[in-house]
Amino acid sequence: MQIKANDPKLKSWVEVPPGSDFPIQNLPFGVFKTRYLSPVAGVAIGNYVLDLVYLHENGFLDGLGLPAGVFNQRYLNDFIALGRKKTRAVRERISELLQHDNDELRDHAAAREIALIPVTEVQMLLPVRVPNYTDFYSSLEHASNVGSMFRDPNNPLLPNWRHLPVAYHGRASSIVVSGTPVRRPQAQIKMPDASAPVFSASKKLDFELEMAFVVCSETRLGQPVTVTEAEEHIFGLILFNDWSARDIQQWEYVPLGPFLSKNFASTVSPWIVTLDALEPFRTKGPEQKPEVLPYLKAEGNKNFDIQLEVILQIPGGISAVVSRTNFRYMYWSMAQQLAHHTVNGCNLQVGDLMASGTISGSDPGSYGSLLELTWNGTRPIRLPNGEERTFLKDGDTVIFRAYAEKDGVRIGFGECKGEIVSEKTKV
Ligand code: MN
Repeated sequence: MQIKANDPKLKSWVEVPPGSDFPIQNLPFGVFKTRYLSPVAGVAIGNYVLDLVYLHENGFLDGLGLPAGVFNQRYLNDFIALGRKKTRAVRERISELLQHDNDELRDHAAAREIALIPVTEVQMLLPVRVPNYTDFYSSLEHASNVGSMFRDPNNPLLPNWRHLPVAYHGRASSIVVSGTPVRRPQAQIKMPDASAPVFSASKKLDFELEMAFVVCSETRLGQPVTVTEAEEHIFGLILFNDWSARDIQQWEYVPLGPFLSKNFASTVSPWIVTLDALEPFRTKGPEQKPEVLPYLKAEGNKNFDIQLEVILQIPGGISAVVSRTNFRYMYWSMAQQLAHHTVNGCNLQVGDLMASGTISGSDPGSYGSLLELTWNGTRPIRLPNGEERTFLKDGDTVIFRAYAEKDGVRIGFGECKGEIVSEKTKV
């Protein structure tokens, strides 16, 4: 598919600093507010946010058939529900307006002043209302690491793992935007050598490096989405931190899976990078053996080459990259996840988030959780000042970053960031 807005040769009249996550080829969508503006939709370009309400109300988006007020809302749900074709046309038009040789906005000083807001003046908000959140478990390396630690190193995968993309239904109400503090959860914990559980704050608080896709359509109950049409139902991707309390998890998860160990908070990055912007970064996924059932068989490249990193920042301004990995390693693709999710007739809602599951690579520096990086606390991470970490302490901040890069174009995701605060913190 040819998408003009993705042309690596495009240049913008808006200054984009080298290494920026948001060149003209990206144009991710989000929701922001300022001292003067209530929440509205915007697009990121360099160090600015473009106010889509202003552009829409002042004729810059005429001819696209957009409903009145579609951007003047707290969430992007109504906009993304317009479907891939229409939202693609909006991105193409915004690209045109920002191209160096287009004078419509460039030479209209008054409009430019209002429409382009420095990123330092905005507060980013949760971009979609999330009706449902599902968490997959689609990284072979992550599932194998966890299986080795808690079951059998010689046989780490459960028998179903290579046949279907394993998942559970998560909690949508506690999904928060990057920058929101995360309060250390308290619940029942049973130490392996104790005879009874105690009520305690988690001592094994962890992050899970994930990406999530945002569903842009409503489907009817009973109507599956095929693997071939699955991507038409995906607006774009965000970074996702599925915070996990390992000690709570270990005591509660049998037989129905994680509950309080995960539902206290999940953090997302504020900018949704469209699947369109990621089109040049398609790649083949790992070979699937045994062969999957026909409803999971997908043609073409369904994985995406996106570099990911985790930065751990501890009090005192010390920080270190603790993991580097890539989204391309995922065993199950997003198309397969969506096809599997709906094959029984489960219906989709606009704004549903489907997270990938922890993304781990094959070498120890590419693991996507502290559980794996420290091998359940047995191999502490050493930070530049000599301090060590097995799991997260109060005051620690975890930052995820991601970008895809090719032909001199860097499509970045911004940050997904959260600081751990004590269980005693009043909220
Ligand atoms: Mn997870």
